[in-house]
Amino acid sequence: MTTTHHSRRNILKATGLAVVGWSVAGATWATPATAAELGPVPVPRLDGTLELSTAARTEFSTDFGRLITAQPKAVLRPGSVQDIVKMLQYCRRFAIQAAMNGQSGNGERESHSNYGQALTRGGMEIDANSLSRIIAIRGDHAVVEPGVSWASLTKTALNQGATPPSLTDYLHLSIGGTVSVGGIGGGVQRHGLQSDTVKSMDIVTGAGELVTATPTRNADLFNAALAGGGQVGVIVKLVVGLIPARQSAEITTMYYEDLDRYLEDQKTLMNGGRFQHQAGEISRRPDNSGWRYKIEVGSYFDAGSEPDHTALLSGMGDLGAERASVQMPFVDWAFRLDPFEAYLKEIGYWEAKKPWLSLILPGSRVKEFVESVVPELTPDDLGAGFCLLSPFDRTKVKSPMFAMPETGDDTLYFFDLLCFPAPDATNIDAQLKRNRRLYERAVKMQGKRYIIGAIPGMTAADWAIHFGPREYRAFAAQKRKYDPSFILAPGHGFFGIGGW
Ligand SMILES: Cc1cc2nc3c(=O)[nH]c(=O)nc-3n(C[C@H](O)[C@H](O)[C@H](O)COP(=O)(O)OP(=O)(O)OC[C@H]3O[C@@H](n4cnc5c(N)ncnc54)[C@H](O)[C@@H]3O)c2cc1C
Repeated sequence: MTTTHHSRRNILKATGLAVVGWSVAGATWATPATAAELGPVPVPRLDGTLELSTAARTEFSTDFGRLITAQPKAVLRPGSVQDIVKMLQYCRRFAIQAAMNGQSGNGERESHSNYGQALTRGGMEIDANSLSRIIAIRGDHAVVEPGVSWASLTKTALNQGATPPSLTDYLHLSIGGTVSVGGIGGGVQRHGLQSDTVKSMDIVTGAGELVTATPTRNADLFNAALAGGGQVGVIVKLVVGLIPARQSAEITTMYYEDLDRYLEDQKTLMNGGRFQHQAGEISRRPDNSGWRYKIEVGSYFDAGSEPDHTALLSGMGDLGAERASVQMPFVDWAFRLDPFEAYLKEIGYWEAKKPWLSLILPGSRVKEFVESVVPELTPDDLGAGFCLLSPFDRTKVKSPMFAMPETGDDTLYFFDLLCFPAPDATNIDAQLKRNRRLYERAVKMQGKRYIIGAIPGMTAADWAIHFGPREYRAFAAQKRKYDPSFILAPGHGFFGIGGW
């Protein structure tokens, strides 16, 4: 939680790889040993470190998905915002690609992207963990650096009776990284995405300018940065909203064999605004004989104002005998995935390849999509993971870059195949091909992808369809304005540069 101030001299002594500067002739970084031969342009003086060691570059060469490996040529661990300003100006001058890397986690640190979204081949990775201070918590908002995780912020805010309104299911993700993709959890139908809870940001653009952006000041930059995949700048400070926290959570799970009834009840619950948390899953039957559907709803409360879930769930068509409710402290609910994470790490699955697929489907086509997918879904497709099928209300999502189906549906669904294959799985390529196939099927139904996840073969034409032709042209114009040399976050490949 404190800004890491590496001693530049120590790092350089330890690695023996002092950076003198970029050599245009050699298209590489020069060290004192190679400077005479390469004639580098000196790097600016930094408060943090610029590291060339194999160890540092290897640390930033893959991500949580373990599907893409791409070595950067350098790692910047900024000691100040000015380091990012100076180094992006420098990178721009020599067309060196650069990306902020979330570097969050529970214990070890990594980018939680699935398919190289935060990686650069031969570029400069920026370690978000070097900027990970909670600067202030004041009533309805917190001021944070981008490398702070939702876990740190939630724990600290809870000590003051507050919480971020919109939490992801797993909290050990960097705030800068999640608001750059969206950030979705079971509170989305009330509070929108995590990116919708951002009030203000300081951003270093791809031109190396430090700019404050809010919904009314430099609004085009603000809107292009949220859920925009880091294309227009590096977020170096954020003001995010907080709401009063409740002490406890009551969570009820309900099971369905009938997809129609499942979808109808999800919609009824969401439209009635009955719960603070609402999600769903396609899950295995207890006897493993096939798939069924699960609704999960939750209320948050203080002692003396316990919710009446029986009344709130009247009229539901679930398998009543299997309905179950549980109460727990809110903090345990917020951190509910930590024990699962520990288990996956223990059995070696966390380190394995994970071809996740995250799609957004229009409510009017979700039945058709699910009915086409379920017959081909096998337990192997999930491994130790799960498949979310959660509704959300389009009108609650405000971030313009977060692409949603262009249909008249207010109710949309996340279809999230969050698979954890066994470490010795041999069908990862087949799973990636499945992702591509299901993505194309979803697109035919006006579906979209979430920009996280692993879908191979994304072309600029695919992205134009994803964002919508007009929006894509506007996005490209923002890119040219704020990142004129197209150096930032090439891992998405939005504009035909980079991607995997
Ligand atoms: C176990 C697990 C559970 C998850 N659960 C959820 C969930 O419940 N809901 C959900 O929505 N997502 C979830 N995710 C996905 C998560 O939102 C993405 O992985 C996301 O990319 C955030 O990860 P990160 O913070 O490591 O950022 P990275 O993956 O490292 O970065 C994501 C993108 O943002 C850019 N970026 C990062 N920081 C900045 C910055 N400061 N300024 C500008 N650009 C930046 C990167 O260059 C990259 O393009 C989960 C992921 C994992 C591994």
